[in-house]
Amino acid sequence: MTECPVCAADVESKDKIAGEVFPCVDCGTELEVRALEPFAVEPAPKEAEDWGE
Ligand SMILES: [Zn+2]
Repeated sequence: MTECPVCAADVESKDKIAGEVFPCVDCGTELEVRALEPFAVEPAPKEAEDWGE
């Protein structure tokens, strides 16, 4: 378990994989899984989604 870097809500590591992007359940910010051991997340860069259109 870790915290959302934006709103500090608890973020479950369960069923997450490295590199996965998911919305925070509390604030809706897109978070990217940076590491699993220890579990760490950071806000996903929105511009990256424009790649490979
Ligand atoms: Zn949040």
